[in-house]
Amino acid sequence: MERKPDLRSLSLSELKDEIGHMGEKSFHAVQIYEWLHKKQAQSVDEMTNLSAALREKLKNSYDLYNLTEVKALEDCEDGTFKYLFATGDENVIESVFMSYEHGYSVCISSQVGCRMGCSFCASTIGGKVRDLTAGEMLEQVYMMQKLQNKRISNVVVMGSGEPFDNFDNFVRFYEMLTDKDGLNISGRNITVSTCGIIDKIRELADKKYALTLAISLHAPNDELRRRIMPSANKYNIEGIISACDYFFEQTGRRITFEYSLMSGINDSESCANELGRLLSGRNCHVNLIPVNPVKERDYRRSGEKDIARFKKILEKNKLNVTIRRGLGKNIDAACGQLRRSYMTNGGEKGAGGSKD
Ligand code: SAH
Repeated sequence: MERKPDLRSLSLSELKDEIGHMGEKSFHAVQIYEWLHKKQAQSVDEMTNLSAALREKLKNSYDLYNLTEVKALEDCEDGTFKYLFATGDENVIESVFMSYEHGYSVCISSQVGCRMGCSFCASTIGGKVRDLTAGEMLEQVYMMQKLQNKRISNVVVMGSGEPFDNFDNFVRFYEMLTDKDGLNISGRNITVSTCGIIDKIRELADKKYALTLAISLHAPNDELRRRIMPSANKYNIEGIISACDYFFEQTGRRITFEYSLMSGINDSESCANELGRLLSGRNCHVNLIPVNPVKERDYRRSGEKDIARFKKILEKNKLNVTIRRGLGKNIDAACGQLRRSYMTNGGEKGAGGSKD
């Protein structure tokens, strides 16, 4: 199905140009942008302060890539909600809403599926179906804000997909999310996680955004990393770390390194020492994530003692370390797990499952 472009993905200045081409006054662009990004309209017909003629022109040239809620799962213990949303072209994506002491945070997907192939991750099992538009990334935030009726303060791009494999749309999303005419979320409250696509880390650094960059490291050396992350064949640790140093120089923002602990794979004392040496002296933060076992894979979570030992060794190297709070444990909140179980259980007819 050929779709028209996504109206929600246009920046205000692009909208102004577009409205001009339609022979209309540019202030209508401000109204449209407000409808989409402040009032979170779901249709052009809601834009009642536009003429019927302009609404028709918009509908003839654009679609709104709305999401609809397919399923919501709540983890009653910690107030985490996991949503499965359907896109207009019969795919499903997942997003997570989390409550913290300091506010409400959402985790969004950047692609339908993923082609990075990380061996422990459920999102990549069926490969990449397609990139999400900037509007669809924004719409995940808008939908959860509406469904929860809460003001979202933090956004993490750590759901399914590799955001730097969809870099232009990610940048567009970031600019619109931080736009004063939109939700106006501060860059400081936005985190993007990548498996380490070096040229894009550098490109992002040059933009000098105030966001947090998280790197999925998961191994202290290339040999081990290549065994669990195919992208490591293309992007080595030395190149990733030097791009991170460049990012820090350009932005002054401390990098987060994510390290999923998998029993017997990457949680040994020697791995901890090697990681400590690798990162030592850097102003960074290490986030240890006990791996979430995925049904299709046989990785096991490291034991409490091994996790504690790993953390201690890193701290001896004067690194700042946290162990990720296991939010949403009861609802398959690890990347891609809900979408995966929905698809393998049949889901709704055609809801993205055909690509597997
Ligand atoms: N593609 C991006 C963002 C998505 S994944 C990236 O690679 O960073 C977000 C984080 O969750 C990554 O660090 C990813 O490696 C990790 N992750 C994926 N599946 C996991 C699992 N089953 N258990 C623990 N962490 C997982």
